Amino acid sequence: MSNNPKFETQAIRTQSERTGNREHTAPLYLTSSFLFDDAEQMRAMFADEIPGNLYSRFSNPNTTELIDKVCLLEGAESGYATATGMAAVFTTLAALCSSGDHILACRSVFGSTHTVLTKLLPKWNITHSYVDIHETDSWAASIQPNTKLLFVETPSNPAVDILDLEWLGKFADEHGLILIVDNCFATPYLQQPIKFGAHLVLHSATKYMDGQGRVLGGLVVGKEELVDEVRLFARHSGPALSPFNAWILSKSIETLALRMDRHCSNALALAERLESHPDVELVKYPFLPSHPQYEVAKKQMRQGGGIVSIVVNGGVDRGREFLNQVKVASLTANLGDSRTIVTHPASTTHAKLTDDQRAEVGILPGLIRISVGLEHVDDIIADIEQALAASKPILA
Ligand SMILES: *Cc1c(COP(=O)(O)O)cnc(C)c1O
Repeated sequence: MSNNPKFETQAIRTQSERTGNREHTAPLYLTSSFLFDDAEQMRAMFADEIPGNLYSRFSNPNTTELIDKVCLLEGAESGYATATGMAAVFTTLAALCSSGDHILACRSVFGSTHTVLTKLLPKWNITHSYVDIHETDSWAASIQPNTKLLFVETPSNPAVDILDLEWLGKFADEHGLILIVDNCFATPYLQQPIKFGAHLVLHSATKYMDGQGRVLGGLVVGKEELVDEVRLFARHSGPALSPFNAWILSKSIETLALRMDRHCSNALALAERLESHPDVELVKYPFLPSHPQYEVAKKQMRQGGGIVSIVVNGGVDRGREFLNQVKVASLTANLGDSRTIVTHPASTTHAKLTDDQRAEVGILPGLIRISVGLEHVDDIIADIEQALAASKPILA
């Protein structure tokens, strides 16, 4: 590689060593363990005195290639790959926190992350406080003497709100907190939180990194000494990514930049079109000037991402009817896929919250989350427009 390879080149040319067969594409190492030359090598590898693959719960050439690639793309020192995005979230929080520690988290976190914070970690007396992403002035008051880390997502799911990463980096530094950013919605192609002071970046690789709805996967990358703790915890608790999924993901990332460019241009075109639609009360997209954090998004993101949130008039009923009327888009619990996906958070992922709790995280009754896919943009726009027309309530 050249001295200063660009994102696309790194995404394609970061590769594990090839075997004597001189294969062009990385071979798949479906093996649970690796051979040692002799007893001394075995002893030294177990003692961590020499590097090498020992057992695939610890490392495997396919997962190592994926980790090395994502570390380069995120500007991270070290990383570990997990079976799912949630394994990355849970393993990281469980590895870094001890009983009695406290976590500060933005309220608009991914649903299962919310369950980890509210239901799982309290089993070990690890507590949390939620902070409102629109009221960063009040965050310092929520810090306790035992607050260990700050966990955020930007853009947020599903309301695509944006947090200022530069501000977050300074805030974490000032208060001695470990800053963890779930970078799933942006991917390292659009935003690199480590540049702004994040200590760890988490991913659900299931989403844009695979990008084709095939495999689950997760990653945690960042500061070496923190990843070392995560790796120790993970190696012995066992959430390792399978070599097969790592192989898929490493290949997928070769086209991440291309795919993200198209996700973003399709999403922007759709968002612009829907802004003037009479049945759409609100369009939220980070690269629309009407987005409340447009300037921040422009500062820290290359493009606006592939998720557009809209609020249709007519509330929950209209939102659900809209879902019934789409013909191209899929109704499925995923995002970041080549196929456009629509969901109605108020009646599904966030149905258990009260209206007030939903409003706090920007989920209005008529909110539709559109994960804009890679179909032709004209067909995506036509499908959304016809679903809006077909779901129109009959006015009395
Ligand atoms: C999907 C998602 C996760 C969880 O990832 P899985 O691979 O489904 O376990 C975490 N954070 C965000 C923002 C997500 O969208």
